[in-house]
Amino acid sequence: AHLERIDAVEDRIHAFLHIDREGALEAARATDERRAAGAALGPLDGVPIAVKDVIATRGVPTTAGSKILENWRPPYDATITTRLREAGLVMVGKTNMDEFAMGSSTEYSAYGPTYNPWDTARIPGGSGGGSAAAVAAYEAPLAIGTDTGGSIRQPAAVTGTVGAKPTYGGTSRYGLIAFSSSLDTPGPCARTVEDAALLHAVMGGHDPRDSTSIPQPVPDVVAAARLGATGDLSGVRLGLVKEFAGEGAEPGVVAAYRESVDALVKLGAEIVEVSCPSFKFALPAYYLIAPSECSSNLARFDGVRYGLRAGDDGKHSLEEVMSITRDAGFGPEVKRRIILGTYALSAGYYDAYYGQAQKVRTLITRDFQAAFEVADVLLAPTTPFVAFELGARTSDPYQMYLADLYTIPSNLYGGPAISVPSGLSEGLPVGLQIMAPTMADDRMYRVAAALE
Ligand code: GLN
Repeated sequence: AHLERIDAVEDRIHAFLHIDREGALEAARATDERRAAGAALGPLDGVPIAVKDVIATRGVPTTAGSKILENWRPPYDATITTRLREAGLVMVGKTNMDEFAMGSSTEYSAYGPTYNPWDTARIPGGSGGGSAAAVAAYEAPLAIGTDTGGSIRQPAAVTGTVGAKPTYGGTSRYGLIAFSSSLDTPGPCARTVEDAALLHAVMGGHDPRDSTSIPQPVPDVVAAARLGATGDLSGVRLGLVKEFAGEGAEPGVVAAYRESVDALVKLGAEIVEVSCPSFKFALPAYYLIAPSECSSNLARFDGVRYGLRAGDDGKHSLEEVMSITRDAGFGPEVKRRIILGTYALSAGYYDAYYGQAQKVRTLITRDFQAAFEVADVLLAPTTPFVAFELGARTSDPYQMYLADLYTIPSNLYGGPAISVPSGLSEGLPVGLQIMAPTMADDRMYRVAAALE
């Protein structure tokens, strides 16, 4: 049924870079066989899923939205891919994304943009716009995304879906093509909070192959989502982040945010205002830290080990081949980040840029810790504006970076955050963001499910 749905709408949405029909049908048949043999099925056994093209899938193309990895078929599975297979999930394909997960609209994909199912003249968010659009357009009930600065939550917000960034280290990065290793966090995309929790539980948990994986079980996010769905939030303290109560946001987004807060109060939650003065430095700090890490991580794409090799005609030196390959294989945004990061990490500027950004990161963590002394979760809009029209923000990188204004603090801190639908502004979806302390992912699921 999902493959038929993909056939019907995909030419208007372009959520996928690769559709794995045979693999999907084979996995679905395997579930049928297990059921016929009387085996106990798990909660997501046989459920179709779309996977962001930055996650390694053995034998199935994995491009990270880049020409430099065109036609690359990984010889191994990411831990997440393995866990999905083991849980019986049926992967229907790999989803479109901004190249190497750098962007907020999927317009930086080397393979053309994804279109928002609500209005195909508009962007579906990014970098995981393909995963969010696939879920919103009913091409898949679930998808995997990755969130480095908001790439699960912002696409969820602008497509009216649910997207969760787990605690950093709560989901494995093994087999995830690295962008910014200290921030990259895989997580679930779904149409309901409970679905997101079920996927989170299956994909998360300790992985000895990832050195930053937390050696603890995932909190019981499914039970928390079910508890929240009862609609009782008495005793829950919601912290409203003063600095994010509307500054820089569209009026319709602010109005939807206030309505969601009122709705949560009616369910018994208590409101406390919290101040997080360092959050205003999160965006500039992120745009030093993430490019710095990317400039190092992307050094491996040298035309020798993976995918594209250009200029290898016997007339160029090895160094020239690397340079020609990188020039041909990387798009403009990726090049901008590599240059920025290389500059920020260079000997003469390290302390002034990278060092300062790391200090800001510590201050942001302290803001979170202080706020969680008085509040159980923090609330803010997910993103300052609804889905914008294609092309509206591509000429000025800063305009694109502003999409991440509210999502980045939780990445720098490492705590979990979820975006849940919070009404409409001018007919387009708005998201409410709920942030929780590290390893308290269950708390955000409870509040999110109550709002639903
Ligand atoms: N939009 C942000 C960026 O371009 C977020 C990316 C992400 O979370 N992968 O870096």
